[in-house]
Amino acid sequence: MTTTNTDSNTVNNNPIQTTPIQTIGILGGGQLGMMLAESAMQLGYRCIFLEDAPNCPASLYGKVYSSQQLEDFVKKADVFTLEFENTPVETVQWLQQLSTDSDTDEDINTNKNIDNEFSKKQGMYPPPIALEIAQDRLAEKSLFNQLDIATVPFLSVSSRGGYDGKGQFVIRSNEDIAKAWAELGGAVTGQGNLTSTPAPLIAEGFINFSREVSIIAVRGQGGEVRAYDLVENHHYNGILAKTQAPAIGTSHLKQMAQTAISKLMNHLNYVGVLALELFVCKDEHGNDTLLANEIAPRVHNSGHWSIEGAVTSQFENHIRAVVGLPLGDTAIVHPSIMVNVLGEYPKLVDVLAIDGCHYHTYHKEERDNRKIAHITLMPTDTAQLKERLAELVSVLPNKVGESG
Ligand code: AMP
Repeated sequence: MTTTNTDSNTVNNNPIQTTPIQTIGILGGGQLGMMLAESAMQLGYRCIFLEDAPNCPASLYGKVYSSQQLEDFVKKADVFTLEFENTPVETVQWLQQLSTDSDTDEDINTNKNIDNEFSKKQGMYPPPIALEIAQDRLAEKSLFNQLDIATVPFLSVSSRGGYDGKGQFVIRSNEDIAKAWAELGGAVTGQGNLTSTPAPLIAEGFINFSREVSIIAVRGQGGEVRAYDLVENHHYNGILAKTQAPAIGTSHLKQMAQTAISKLMNHLNYVGVLALELFVCKDEHGNDTLLANEIAPRVHNSGHWSIEGAVTSQFENHIRAVVGLPLGDTAIVHPSIMVNVLGEYPKLVDVLAIDGCHYHTYHKEERDNRKIAHITLMPTDTAQLKERLAELVSVLPNKVGESG
């Protein structure tokens, strides 16, 4: 049994639609949600968003429901996905339950106290387990080990209480250990933010990587996995500043990255787009190898280049997967470089005066280090890349993008 929406905001009688889905409910309403909605609209689907900031980027593309309006949001959507990885796992579990085939109507109506307006939804993608793992660094590392995916060596360090932060602390000397514990562990010294949920710390080996790369792939409802090329990422103050696609000179690592991401997606029975961040470093024989750092169970900033640079963008492929349509080709159509605009907008006229620039604003207010837009360049060769990138950086107020 399926429900379709008769809400006047939804697209009706779409002649090419092959699934009974009309409205996609997205948890989160940031720029990722906005770009997902752009792709969804192109295919004839409408998106709505669960987001507490009413003027979020996605609000230009569909109705925004606050967390107080969760029930209305759920009733109006046929299928669910997310663009924000700190979404509470319980919400995602509940949404998945609404679409579990094994539930009978009786279960839904009585045991789970869910009325007919909630039943039956077409799915929650990605599955809650992917979110749980991405929110728990120890679980993430353990999964890499379990699946034989080489990762940064780590050690679980239990703490008496727990710390609800996501802080990192680089330890360079013995004295730093006490400082790190005081800041992150909290329990021993009584400092830090203690919470009722125990969250053990983990100590990771410091990796002298030569480059940071990532791979993005999409998995469809039938289990097909299609991966994009490896891309190289450069950061500024810990924030992604620039992505180059493909990552030059990494063809010998591509298979390893694709095998790793396929294993992860198949193991999690994942549907949609997943990103895997990796370090390039040397193995014991001095050869290049990859170490997995972390996963992001959603479309990812290092995949924005694919809007112009790939046959099918990561956003369109995620929507295709979520609604059960065939996946699109992930091949690169043109080498690209994506630069994030952080904090302050450049003059549009200056950006567009550079040949081959694609500008994407997120309609956000300026704020220090905030991602407010991105620009993709599509140079024909390395010489042109250097020239165009230098031109672009020169018109960006904080010159982000020149590193690396
Ligand atoms: P993460 O929150 O894991 O994405 O880490 C943010 C950044 O910190 C990464 O992009 C790396 O530049 C750096 N980093 C994280 N873990 C390590 C590590 N084990 N060794 C060296 N650098 C790291």
